[in-house]
Amino acid sequence: MPLALAVHGGAWNVPDDALEANRAGIERVLRQTWREMQQGLPALDAVEAAVRLLEDDPTFNAGRGARLNREHRVEMDASIMEGEGLRAGAVAAIEGVRHPVSVARLVMERSRHVLLAGRGARRFAREHGAELCRTRDLLVGRELERYLRVRRGERDLVDLEFRARRHGAPSDTVGAVAMDRAGRLAAATSTGGTQDKAAGRVGDSPVIGAGIYADDRRGAASATGWGEGILRVVLAKAAVDGMGSGLPPAAAGRRALASLARVEGAAGLVLIDREGRAAAVFDTPRMARGVVVEGGRPFVAVQRRARGR
Ligand code: ASP
Repeated sequence: MPLALAVHGGAWNVPDDALEANRAGIERVLRQTWREMQQGLPALDAVEAAVRLLEDDPTFNAGRGARLNREHRVEMDASIMEGEGLRAGAVAAIEGVRHPVSVARLVMERSRHVLLAGRGARRFAREHGAELCRTRDLLVGRELERYLRVRRGERDLVDLEFRARRHGAPSDTVGAVAMDRAGRLAAATSTGGTQDKAAGRVGDSPVIGAGIYADDRRGAASATGWGEGILRVVLAKAAVDGMGSGLPPAAAGRRALASLARVEGAAGLVLIDREGRAAAVFDTPRMARGVVVEGGRPFVAVQRRARGR
């Protein structure tokens, strides 16, 4: 099968002064992960590796660089899924871990569960040797400043990221989908969640079917956008089902995004179908994204293109 990889760094109203950092961050991760896939890295390892790199890049709202919640804490959500046996793992509202996506993978491989949350998730991470850290190791100046501005009452900062719609602030979530030589599909997603979120708020990213889905027989998808909307239309699964019924990835993605109209949502998706065709689609003002398929040229962009990719 042809190799394919698509990554995203969040669908939202990426500000002009963050365009270049978003583009460069996606390009670096796409190139590095693609090189490793060409050397034989399986799809599941590839999506974890890509998301770990994005979690390390403070440009993005995942891992280091994650948002503070309303109580000045960094609670993160992440998930991973493989499409052969439909195995999945996820963590929600987890604190003090360097790579939430790797804890999600540990949940998939070393527990009898799919989703662990809060204190229990962190304890599980510690018991299984995941890299722990302090909140201040994850916190970057940009996020502290944003937090303080929102606390001072600057509501427009909450709206900035998503001005086109009425709802809160999706931002800079990261994700990846991949197909390897054996035709195996995998997906991963990781986020610090939305600006000014309540303590304990969990978005779509760790919810299988909403923020992520992978099925070798149909396709794989990782979502980003307003989580409260994505959850209610089960966005990633809707897109994968569309690919399963024969729609190309971009058309399946767009049809799934159209279902958000009922909840006045907005989002973006990266997708790969079972033939290894890949796409990135979004209905937010911008989305940081990168797509590469074997035999084609890598595509990286943040702004909307006439081609609509
Ligand atoms: N979907 C994420 C959430 O609601 C945010 C994002 O994608 O930017 O937590």
